[in-house]
Amino acid sequence: MTLPADPVAIARDLLRCRSVTPAEGGALAYLDGVLKAAGFTVHRPKFVEPGTAEIENLYARIGTERPHLVFAGHTDVVPPGDEAAWSHDPFAGEIADGVLFGRGAVDMKGSVACFVAAALDHLEHNGGKPKGSLSLLITGDEEDIAVNGTVKLLVWAAARGETFDHCILGEPTNAQVLGDAIKIGRRGSLNGTLLVAGRQGHVAYPERAENPIRGLVRVMGALLAEPLDAGSAHFDPSNLEFTSVDVGNRTVNLIPAEARARFNIRFNNHHTHSGLKALIEQWAAAAAAGARWRIDWEPSNADVFLTQPGPFVNLVADAVTDVTGRTPHLSTSGGTSDARFIKDHCPVIEFGLVGATMHQVDERTAVADLVTLTAIYRQILDRYFAA
Ligand SMILES: [Zn+2]
Repeated sequence: MTLPADPVAIARDLLRCRSVTPAEGGALAYLDGVLKAAGFTVHRPKFVEPGTAEIENLYARIGTERPHLVFAGHTDVVPPGDEAAWSHDPFAGEIADGVLFGRGAVDMKGSVACFVAAALDHLEHNGGKPKGSLSLLITGDEEDIAVNGTVKLLVWAAARGETFDHCILGEPTNAQVLGDAIKIGRRGSLNGTLLVAGRQGHVAYPERAENPIRGLVRVMGALLAEPLDAGSAHFDPSNLEFTSVDVGNRTVNLIPAEARARFNIRFNNHHTHSGLKALIEQWAAAAAAGARWRIDWEPSNADVFLTQPGPFVNLVADAVTDVTGRTPHLSTSGGTSDARFIKDHCPVIEFGLVGATMHQVDERTAVADLVTLTAIYRQILDRYFAA
């Protein structure tokens, strides 16, 4: 039997599936067929909750022993936007001058295709079975609200008794060139709204009113005055950014009754959600000088995490170096990803394609990068299951 172990062919087939979240678009059905033919046991659990669209997911495993390596990813994509603005149909999988175009080419059907091709190749050269277990955890709900995807799929797998030793998430991690960077952690994220209450009144009689803008400016100034920390071994300094200041007062001679400011904090491993909230409230209290203030915190599931450098990180980094000749930077930059859910189940690192065009018109990847990434994943599998 010949298996379709060509990453470019698999990537083109996936790109032709119109899997804009929440649509499955045929992408998971396609993977189901390819993986079953290679001996994987495939499940397609669907998840839903009130007010959300039902989402199809895929879990495929081959092998019963440990160690258990799982590759995680998603086949859903963001909408193409104005399709006429694309130089190639976003759902045709067209190649021009050695470049593959399409929505999801780098985020992240391309890396899913590379991983599948590497897995089939590894199995074919090792008697059809890994020396351990190899799984794929693929969701259709990463790009939108991400509630019926990886987070539920992990719980579903745990309830079935699945345990994972290590995970590779195939999100685009490289800024410029394949081999630039492996992500070994991500910052946490926290949103809050600072509200200061005053007393409405006439601007000509300020003694009869209480302007909340004065208190708001004092507290905002205090929150911006000092850095939250100086960074840590693997993280940049945490950062607080105000994203909106709102009073909404259209009257020129009126002191408003309330003023508010929204902010987001991206924080490193010096902090936890609760510790950070306490610190910000302590700074606010010290600067308020009598102003009546409070902070409304939004619930957040984006905690900071770090996969400590060690044998697994080294294995992946060495595979990247072997294939590309580059020493990848161990990065923790960027936004949040599904790794924030996976880290509660096993150590996770992220490595995928060059992310420069993700979510853009003419999203694309060099065909050569698909071949190189497949070689890297193949190296990782060969090393991981070398025992
Ligand atoms: Zn993605």
